[in-house]
Amino acid sequence: MNANAPMFDAQDDWIAPAEPAPRRSRQARVAWGDHVVTIGGDAPVRVQSMTNTDTVDAIGTAIQVKELAIAGSELVRITVNTPEAAEAVPYIREQLDRMGIEVPLVGDFHYNGHRLLTEYPSMAQALSKYRINPGNVGKGDKRDRQFAMMVEAAARYDKVVRIGVNWGSLDQELLAEMMDQNARRAEPHDAQQVMYRALIQSALGSAEYARELGLNPDNIIISCKVSGVRDLIAVYRALARRCDYALHLGLTEAGMGTKGTVASSTALAVLLQEGIGDTIRVSLTPQPGESRTQEVAVALEILQSLGLRTFNPSVTACPGCGRTTSSTFQELAKQIDDFLRAQMPVWKARYPGVENLKVAVMGCIVNGPGESKHADIGISLPGTGEAPAAPVFIDGQKAMTLRGEGIASEFHQIVEDYIERRFGTVTTAH
Ligand code: SF4
Repeated sequence: MNANAPMFDAQDDWIAPAEPAPRRSRQARVAWGDHVVTIGGDAPVRVQSMTNTDTVDAIGTAIQVKELAIAGSELVRITVNTPEAAEAVPYIREQLDRMGIEVPLVGDFHYNGHRLLTEYPSMAQALSKYRINPGNVGKGDKRDRQFAMMVEAAARYDKVVRIGVNWGSLDQELLAEMMDQNARRAEPHDAQQVMYRALIQSALGSAEYARELGLNPDNIIISCKVSGVRDLIAVYRALARRCDYALHLGLTEAGMGTKGTVASSTALAVLLQEGIGDTIRVSLTPQPGESRTQEVAVALEILQSLGLRTFNPSVTACPGCGRTTSSTFQELAKQIDDFLRAQMPVWKARYPGVENLKVAVMGCIVNGPGESKHADIGISLPGTGEAPAAPVFIDGQKAMTLRGEGIASEFHQIVEDYIERRFGTVTTAH
């Protein structure tokens, strides 16, 4: 290899790290009791999720909200679809307060939100934020009146509102009107273009109306969700250019498992890297038996992978190959990853900064020592045919070599000791 081959000119070949583009939005304050979660402005991108319990089951819902909050969801949305559900909301809030769960509740309203928010003031106050879908507030001359009733409740109780448009429930009257206008153009746009525009028009037109009704513009958050990755990117880029509201970002109906995870990550990563998105939700369909918290785990990983936030220590592990015929390194990587995540709720308080820890678990000598040196603490396990020894690197230096059957448990202990040493609270003797 010739290191002097002319690949880089002196002047313009500076390779800068890929920082996200800035988009300064208004900042919404989602408040409850003495607490507040800010969205937009200089706040970090917030993670949110939604329960799938029957809201009428207040205890079951409070338990799931607690699980989602502990998993890292900073806001949790619950459906408020019936009078019975509306009655359960203050009780859910009370249960959460009693359990010490500091997370705001967001009410999801469709069709009858105007009545529920008017007739159940305790519910309207117990919620910290309302989600209003302009496509589902009523038809004809009822639409504006019912939308106004919801916005007036938000203004009365000083609540944040997400105007959440979804192409599965797009305002059909608006779409028909825009289709007609388009048909009269000398050169009509295709239907997809009209759909994109109708989504944005519905959201921003509703926001404008909400402001006319007296809602503080800082208390407006916008979303325009679609289920196609390229559609979402196109719509949000156009939306971001046209407003300074905080944006709720998510790929709707992303699907299950790998498909849903990859589709959401792909779409959200592109937009977040462009500075678009102030709060995210990953709409995963849980696999049978899978915890609802999986959508939160994916959202956290997206933000952490992009370097936007840090929630958990990271474990770098190689994928393994023909050089590793045993599963030892996979098991060790999983054990360490599970161990770190399980400890995080306690460690967050006990070891400030522990979320920045980087651990490497590598399968053989090819990349093992190099990758391990880049981590805070790393181990390079012996590959097939290599001497049965596992060098451990701490802060870039080879610290020891482990041998024999107890490599996993010894490494476990080394990680724990390292965390205690580096992140443990320093106490001074008097
Ligand atoms: S570090 Fe070794 S075992 Fe892991 S993928 Fe690379 S060559 Fe294979």
